Amino acid sequence: MDEKFDCIIVGGGIAGLAAAMILARNNMKFLLIEKGEFAGSKNVSGGVLWGHDLARLVPGYWEEEDGGWERFINHRRLTFMDEQSTFSIDFKSSHFNETPYSGVVVLRSKFDRWLAGKVQEEIDQSDHAMESFIATNIKVDEVLMENDKAVGIRTGDEEFHADSVILAEGVNNLLTRQVGLQDDYVPADHMLTGIKEVIRYDQKVLEDRFQLNGLSGMSNEFVGYSTDGVEGGGFLYTNRDTISLGLVAGIKDMREKEKSPHDILNTFKGHPVIQDTIKGGEVVEYSAHVVSSGDKRVMPKELYKDGVLLCGESANLLMNAGKAIQGMDLAMRSGILGAETIVKAKERGDFSSQTMKEYRQALDESYVMQDINNFQDAVHMLHSPEMFKDVPNLICDFGRKFFTIDNEPTKKSREMMSESIKEHSSYWDLIKIGFKGAKSL
Ligand SMILES: Cc1cc2nc3c(=O)[nH]c(=O)nc-3n(C[C@H](O)[C@H](O)[C@H](O)COP(=O)(O)OP(=O)(O)OC[C@H]3O[C@@H](n4cnc5c(N)ncnc54)[C@H](O)[C@@H]3O)c2cc1C
Repeated sequence: MDEKFDCIIVGGGIAGLAAAMILARNNMKFLLIEKGEFAGSKNVSGGVLWGHDLARLVPGYWEEEDGGWERFINHRRLTFMDEQSTFSIDFKSSHFNETPYSGVVVLRSKFDRWLAGKVQEEIDQSDHAMESFIATNIKVDEVLMENDKAVGIRTGDEEFHADSVILAEGVNNLLTRQVGLQDDYVPADHMLTGIKEVIRYDQKVLEDRFQLNGLSGMSNEFVGYSTDGVEGGGFLYTNRDTISLGLVAGIKDMREKEKSPHDILNTFKGHPVIQDTIKGGEVVEYSAHVVSSGDKRVMPKELYKDGVLLCGESANLLMNAGKAIQGMDLAMRSGILGAETIVKAKERGDFSSQTMKEYRQALDESYVMQDINNFQDAVHMLHSPEMFKDVPNLICDFGRKFFTIDNEPTKKSREMMSESIKEHSSYWDLIKIGFKGAKSL
């Protein structure tokens, strides 16, 4: 094949597929290359896809009987955990039952494959139905550069040429480094390992246990003992007849504390409250993947250069300010904005950085960079040691005192709080955390 494409997309994850959908819709001639056997076969997420962008890509997706998603979220819970107890902030609302949903749980091997099918439908209706392709089981080895401009890719001995390349290769961004947009060295304290088990139940048992109605679902994030004192957090999301239970843990912190992801997950699963929650389930899948911390300092120097754009986690786009992990929605929006820039470049006949920089502008103006910029302090705070040990311990200790009725005179709540603070932290440390919290949120 010696024809030139308008664009080659590397990676058939969320960012790459979102970009492909926009290119197909705009009658662009493109090639998407995915190294997995099928889109999604190599991908891991907790995972809730937040926001409404999915409805932009696949209008009315919720009407499909068996679409790519599992359940919509109308019940959210944030749980602080010590060795024996949990203390949760719980919010459930029928407001979240309205379509388009503001969060859907997905299992990536199913979801990405489904989304790739939708992209193929769009290709089939485009002017380039026979000249645009999704190619799987192929690994891109190199981005071809001429005078520092991307002109195509190489896979094995074969070269494919294009006016532009979108790198949507995910967090292990080797090609991003090859084109010189990111330094080779990424500090270990900016990376986490995510591990996840999918645990199956009889659907009725699952629905009763988590009070699910129809396709409603729950997301639960955990802070504290869920990562056994290591930087990070745990999660539990309900799928149709399974749950996704897992955690993300700092790579450097794990090394320093000599803990492995497997040990931490077992500790989490051994917690009495989690044991009650998961009992009777059968583990049917186990997976692990690196994930970015969301610290802006790890982002590439720039997100474009002549003929090339970075989308999704290739650019380390990730947000976790304590409310939720947001990687997939950021990947989706960046893929959309990246592809829209390529469409403009084609119209102008200019794929140089002069046009590509409009991608960066669009991203800066969108919620993606606004949130990443505005909540950096929260990201740093969330990764500070007191947030995954002292604070959850203090909260659970107070909870235990507050909810205990033991036929002894009951202390005032402020006295209980004061005792818990002295035991697990200090007023001065709490003032500092409160100050940081007020500033960052
Ligand atoms: C345990 C865990 C839980 C998470 N939970 C959530 C969550 O609840 N919500 C959320 O929003 N985010 C979550 N995330 C983060 C989210 O998964 C990522 O941010 C998101 O997948 C990034 O999408 P992407 O398209 O940029 O990259 P990816 O999904 O990683 O896709 C990259 C694709 O590129 C392909 N590829 C890579 N290199 C090449 C190559 N050289 N040639 C061809 N193909 C290549 C890969 O096979 C892959 O398919 C979680 C992550 C982990 C690990």
